[in-house]
Amino acid sequence: MGKKKYKLKIDRERCKGCLFCAEACPLKALSISDDVNGRGLKYVVLSSPEKCTKCGLCVVMCPDCAIEIVEEE
Ligand code: SF4
Ligand code: SF4
Repeated sequence: MGKKKYKLKIDRERCKGCLFCAEACPLKALSISDDVNGRGLKYVVLSSPEKCTKCGLCVVMCPDCAIEIVEEE
């Protein structure tokens, strides 16, 4: 059994682009999309995945539960 790996999972349809998560990220790993989601709203993307430590701050900050930390398959 290897060490478990985790990744950030952003549900773009839940996201409304408020950027609370991006402001909370100590590493500035999140930013806003150029594109819009199905509701016509810009959403947040993990623009610098190499910086993300999976600290979970963005997860707890999101009022819409749009970010999760999940195990990588
Ligand atoms: S898990 Fe932490 S480091 Fe990664 S994007 Fe969220 S706040 Fe930033
Ligand atoms: S806090 Fe949630 S709703 Fe707001 S931009 Fe981040 S992921 Fe989207």
